[in-house]
Amino acid sequence: MLKRILVTGGAGFLGSHLCQRLVRQGHDVICLDNFFTSQKGNVDHLLDCHNFELVRHDVVDPFRFEVDEIYNLACPAAPGHYQYNPIKTMKTSVMGAINALGLAKRVRARILHTSTSEVYGDPEVHPQPESYRGNVNPIGPRACYDEGKRAAETLMFDYHRQHGVQIKVVRIFNTYGPLMHPYDGRVVSNFIRQALAGEDITLFGDGSQTRSFCFVDDMIDGLIALMESRADLTGPVNVGNPTETTVIDLARKVVEICGSRSKVSTGRPMPADDPAKRRPDIALARKELGWEPRVPLDQGLRKTIEWFRTIRLSDYRPPTPNY
Ligand code: NAD
Ligand code: UDP
Repeated sequence: MLKRILVTGGAGFLGSHLCQRLVRQGHDVICLDNFFTSQKGNVDHLLDCHNFELVRHDVVDPFRFEVDEIYNLACPAAPGHYQYNPIKTMKTSVMGAINALGLAKRVRARILHTSTSEVYGDPEVHPQPESYRGNVNPIGPRACYDEGKRAAETLMFDYHRQHGVQIKVVRIFNTYGPLMHPYDGRVVSNFIRQALAGEDITLFGDGSQTRSFCFVDDMIDGLIALMESRADLTGPVNVGNPTETTVIDLARKVVEICGSRSKVSTGRPMPADDPAKRRPDIALARKELGWEPRVPLDQGLRKTIEWFRTIRLSDYRPPTPNY
């Protein structure tokens, strides 16, 4: 059935892939974004589609649309982006969730909220199942994002219990692919940009910290599968790729695939509160959504590197001040 769908943060990395997929499926898609960490270029190719609309708006201010579904993605996601203006990050997470949930309640739309593996903080349980309550430092530099996302999860469940809103909470683990912002400071985009330019790779610490990287196409499959799942499946559901890799191995792989002479050396300081390890337990997604990632890291990196070779870095800007 064709639906009217609102995607907040729809011009961002994940949002633009999601909008494209939904538009191709024939849905009527409204993409709402304030372009804090993205640019219109990500959705340029959709502007001529009769079933796509682009709206500049900040989710901190209320919004109204007649829709059947809401994907709530609006929030800076890269550490450099969300720490740029931490108070605004918290407002976006919390007030954005309240505004999206208020709309869902009024028009009886189903709402999917993109939460994060960061709700587990620096985890003491490994891999992380949804039942793990996390180890977040509430006063550190990552807290604006982690606690903002935790509060948004709370709001989702309170609107569900108090008002019967149909909710879906997904906890996304590190995702990469074409259309990542080349200056977002995330590890995949940094390493690829540096390797292609022949610059030293900025490995933080000794590189033994781990992450588990999911290719964007797999992630979009997971988000849509959760949105379309049976009504009583509220989540939270982990969606990510359980193949764990150290950051130093990632650096070596990127350099090798790029055919680069960039140096990978240790000794740079670790950022504060940087989780030492992260890997999703995806048993729930496998069982309830029949979902699992299909794209191995090597293949996903090749596709991402191909895309990075085609872009003009001068088309991208760092995040703009936004108060
Ligand atoms: P992104 O920064 O590329 O996209 C976020 C989008 O939200 C951008 O287009 C940005 O301009 C917009 N935005 C930010 N603040 C806004 C505001 N106040 N009003 C309106 N729009 C606003 O990040 P992404 O990687 O596409 O992440 C999308 C969502 O998924 C985020 O909520 C993020 O927390 C979550 N997530 C992503 C990852 C990942 O690895 N990519 C991991 C965990 C969670
Ligand atoms: N990292 C790194 N060099 C960089 C960027 C990141 O070594 O230039 C490390 C970072 O310290 C972390 C991991 O890579 O351990 C993932 O960082 P990212 O910012 O991509 O995401 P996070 O999972 O920490 O939110």
